[in-house]
Amino acid sequence: MIKKPRHVLGISGGKDSAALAIYLKTKYPNLDIEYYFCDTGKELDETKHLIEELEVFLGKEIKRLRAARGSSEDPFDHYHKLFGGYLPSSSARWCTKKLKLEPFEEFVGSDPVISYVAIRGDEEREGYISKKSNIQSIFPFRKNIWSEDVIRKVLSNENITTIASLYSKVVSDGQLVRILDVVNTPTSLAYKPDNKLNSLLDLGISLFNKVVFEFLKNTDYPLSKCDDFTLLDNEDVLVRDDIFQIFADYGVTVPSYYNKVNFQVNEKIGHYARSRSGCFFCFFQQKIEWVWLLENHPDLFNKAMKYEKDGYTWNQNESLAELSQPKRVKQIKEDYLKNSNHKNTLNSPYLIDILEETEKDGCSICFI
Ligand code: SF4
Repeated sequence: MIKKPRHVLGISGGKDSAALAIYLKTKYPNLDIEYYFCDTGKELDETKHLIEELEVFLGKEIKRLRAARGSSEDPFDHYHKLFGGYLPSSSARWCTKKLKLEPFEEFVGSDPVISYVAIRGDEEREGYISKKSNIQSIFPFRKNIWSEDVIRKVLSNENITTIASLYSKVVSDGQLVRILDVVNTPTSLAYKPDNKLNSLLDLGISLFNKVVFEFLKNTDYPLSKCDDFTLLDNEDVLVRDDIFQIFADYGVTVPSYYNKVNFQVNEKIGHYARSRSGCFFCFFQQKIEWVWLLENHPDLFNKAMKYEKDGYTWNQNESLAELSQPKRVKQIKEDYLKNSNHKNTLNSPYLIDILEETEKDGCSICFI
């Protein structure tokens, strides 16, 4: 018997994955989704609160996945010791691999799996996702719900005839001429796959989804084992404002680390917050977020500082001991104020619109 895929959704503790869980639960209540959370042992309490609240809303357990289960230490500390005190960084992200990806891959094993990823319609990135062939990522918040590898195959010039024939089966004559015009045009340096993809999506998102779904039937992708897929007709595109609206509509509390906190520098008032979930010491933080941690969670800042020894620091060119000096804190606040005053011309109601500018540097497993 063909094994049907499992449907899974990773909750990172961030707003987007939580909103996706709420969205799918309310819009597609028949999707039997397994929720999981990769616990590094170094998350903020706010993340734990969100997960508990979500479990009540979803009426389902969010499975806690922990790396190094046999160890007496937190997963992060276990591997930190194993790597001889070497701190992770954006160029050496052993933490994401060991604490997030590997426990996730162990959780799914060799089962075919559809993994829902909460990258929004207003984001460019694909995210840091598993490349195992039994795991297929789907992006319900985007106009294009398919992963890069699927799109590459569908739009490959070698598959033009197959895609044209699939369209012929689902589209009426009038529309078909226009669509085949696009399908039969090979991609090239002048006509990039992204342009072709957008043209096809503009001619009908759900039509495109149906063609891709049929195309996948002759592949080993997990969706090839399904008779139908409920998201094929979904044409929603959700952007940042929609995410907050979902929290408001369903009465789930936005994690409090996103809340603006006032600070004063040179008699001017500024606001800071944290832009993302993940470990409290995450090296992806901006300097102003480290200052937020120092002033709002001094105990956690001190813990982060204790990891800095033997020449290893969380930030390049500056230790947390240096960053926490009053003169340096003042300078970071001044620089941030200068910068955010400029960016405030965007007129965004959310402080994280400013903080999230570097979000693309993060990873989809930890932060969305
Ligand atoms: S939140 Fe940051 S430190 Fe923690 S696992 Fe993710 S990338 Fe690594």
